[in-house]
Amino acid sequence: MTSTHPNRVSLPDILTSWKQTTELIFPRVCASCQTFGPSMLGAGALCPLCDQLVRLATLNLQTTTLPGTRLPVVSAGRYEHELGRCVLAYKDAGRTDLSPYLASALARALTCLLELSEGELEPAEPIYLVPLPSSRASVRRRGYAPAPLLARAVLPLLCSPVSVKVADVLAQVPAWARASPGQHRSKAQKTLGIEERYRQMQGKLRVGKPALHQLGRYYSLEDATCLLVDDVFTTGASLREGYRVLSHRGARVLGGATIAYVPKRQRYNTE
Ligand SMILES: [Zn+2]
Repeated sequence: MTSTHPNRVSLPDILTSWKQTTELIFPRVCASCQTFGPSMLGAGALCPLCDQLVRLATLNLQTTTLPGTRLPVVSAGRYEHELGRCVLAYKDAGRTDLSPYLASALARALTCLLELSEGELEPAEPIYLVPLPSSRASVRRRGYAPAPLLARAVLPLLCSPVSVKVADVLAQVPAWARASPGQHRSKAQKTLGIEERYRQMQGKLRVGKPALHQLGRYYSLEDATCLLVDDVFTTGASLREGYRVLSHRGARVLGGATIAYVPKRQRYNTE
């Protein structure tokens, strides 16, 4: 018989059942509560309950002003409980499968920021999302850079009348290349005040050369409209340094968006 079998199984079907079989043997573990088993079948990085909790935790947007500037910073939720665990697992435990959950939270924060900046947007000009960079050492260790990865994942979720692009233009200055090595190094991080943290952060970021090509051959930050993107807002020292570097190059920075913010009472224990 040469005719095709009526019950012939297609390759995608085989792959799906293979995935289901492997998940039965090696079920995914929820990135937040560590549960595994039947509730994780067909689930993403989170069990259905944690999925709901993370969604709820990122509905209370918080808008603050970046210290030392008049820029608004919008965060999707507080850095605690499920959301805190998810951000941590995403950054430090390689759980990049959390990206869709965190990107939708960031999209809510960015949409709010875009609404706040509405009066300052030029419809013909694109808006650039500028993620805050990680150090080269941590990118090597993790195998990815959390903020740029999220900035890219968030793009399809934004419904803005203005075109939004990612410009991964910031880079960390390696420790050896910094002018004044560790004036305050001896002091424990958690005892530093906001201004002191900012002074420590100054000079740590620059516009990275390899990324310049991302905006095209005639790349210039002059008058480019930028929004800073990061995972967690603690004291805002990194966002402020990003703002300093970009505005020094002539960019118009309208604000920042993060997934989570650290409430003041927790601040000195997390950064
Ligand atoms: Zn869970």
